[in-house]
Amino acid sequence: MHADIVVLPGDGIGPEIVAATLPVLEAVASRFGHRFSFAEHDIGGIAIDRHGEPLPAETLEAARKADAVLLGAVGGPKWSDPSAKVRPEQGLLAIRKALGLFANLRPVRPHPAALGASPIKSELLQGVDIMVVRELTGGIYFGDKTRTDTEATDLCRYSVVEIERVVRSAAALARGRRGHLTSVDKANVLETSRLWRDVATRVMREEFPDVTLEHQLVDSMAMHLLSRPRAYDVIVTENMFGDILTDEASMLAGSLGLLASASLGAGRVGIYEPIHGSAPDIAGKGIANPYATILSAAMLLRHSLRLEAEAAAVEAAVSSALDAKVFTADLAAAGQGVDTRSAAQAVVERLA
Ligand code: NAD
Repeated sequence: MHADIVVLPGDGIGPEIVAATLPVLEAVASRFGHRFSFAEHDIGGIAIDRHGEPLPAETLEAARKADAVLLGAVGGPKWSDPSAKVRPEQGLLAIRKALGLFANLRPVRPHPAALGASPIKSELLQGVDIMVVRELTGGIYFGDKTRTDTEATDLCRYSVVEIERVVRSAAALARGRRGHLTSVDKANVLETSRLWRDVATRVMREEFPDVTLEHQLVDSMAMHLLSRPRAYDVIVTENMFGDILTDEASMLAGSLGLLASASLGAGRVGIYEPIHGSAPDIAGKGIANPYATILSAAMLLRHSLRLEAEAAAVEAAVSSALDAKVFTADLAAAGQGVDTRSAAQAVVERLA
């Protein structure tokens, strides 16, 4: 097949991890007989520097026409002045919203060879395989904001339609996995959460009677995620809870540098990016872990291009590189670890 992929390297380690990932996609193309075209555009801080805005119209236009979007990360100290009117993260929120990407899929599957990198006891991690589905275009991140000298507000709002569609996406994934869905809310305190719980209960009863549903409050979920992670299959939750819980869940996998994500909507175009940020502390050193971005590219193959065998081949290649202890510094013992390019090269070699 031929696919047009828009590439948005962004800031910090973004360009490094994306540059390391493109050869992996090229290796997939040559092994399976596809043709992928890559078109690079600006987003985030670099777009503010070059165009005065974090999401230039041409970037959005290109993303709309593409088959899929591969993104690095945005942000950094250069643009983080709290009084700044334009911020890199606005570009990210805007492109997700503009493309209608309401479901953010974040798989958490600790790799046996990397268990030692997690602060959690290895025996709790064996067999953990969780898919977190985070609502991405609603809730408090998008609500009206006010600010005076003495107070500030952020509005949290959810509609029935917004909850229904993300619960359906999560339930469909659960149906293809172990058939269990955990819906996370704060229904004992928040009205949006009570609506969330009602809608989730109804959608599951009417449309997914074969998938078991469990409700969990976000505070106890934060605890259970670490104390009994094996108990979870698919977790669905609202925007902010999902943001926080998935960073927590990354510790199950041992490093933020291992966690991939796919942001999907009703259509086929999606944005694929690691869950981590631009890591300014290691940017430019060539030591960032590229696996999260490579695994995001695997999700791109699976969800936007419907190339399941190709996606599985990339995942197997990363898995094999980890088995061989091809670790970047975040996973390796202190003072050790290979550079970004060598880690990516190990994946390319295994694909060939
Ligand atoms: P971060 O995820 O960038 O980094 C947190 C820690 O994890 C750092 O020590 C970093 O070195 C390490 N880390 C992250 N990715 C790594 C990788 N691939 N390999 C090795 N180590 C890695 O989070 P932060 O420091 O809180 O934020 C830095 C900037 O990134 C901020 O400007 C923030 O707004 C932005 N950010 C962007 C996104 C995004 O683009 N989706 C997400 C989160 C944060």
